[in-house]
Amino acid sequence: MFADEGSARCGTVLPTAYRSDVVFWIVPVGEDVRHGTTTRPGALPAGSEVLVLCARRFKLPTSTPWPDVPKTKSVTRQCEDCVAEYERLGRPATVWDF
Ligand SMILES: [Zn+2]
Repeated sequence: MFADEGSARCGTVLPTAYRSDVVFWIVPVGEDVRHGTTTRPGALPAGSEVLVLCARRFKLPTSTPWPDVPKTKSVTRQCEDCVAEYERLGRPATVWDF
């Protein structure tokens, strides 16, 4: 058997955050754990509702003005239901703070 080199060269390689199938780990308003979402956080204004992998809806927080560090930066705990769905999807992921 030969490896299919042709298909390996197809497609554009983009940084993870710019791919369309990425799971973003965000900390929604009022939460102290990260939930996964496939909605690009930058695509919606603050206060918009976003659907996360555990099938709940949360409001997106307001962006932190530069050069302040987002308060959620230190949050590393992840929602267990989102993790289970994330592992089932097998998609790339990135952490996102607002
Ligand atoms: Zn969740």
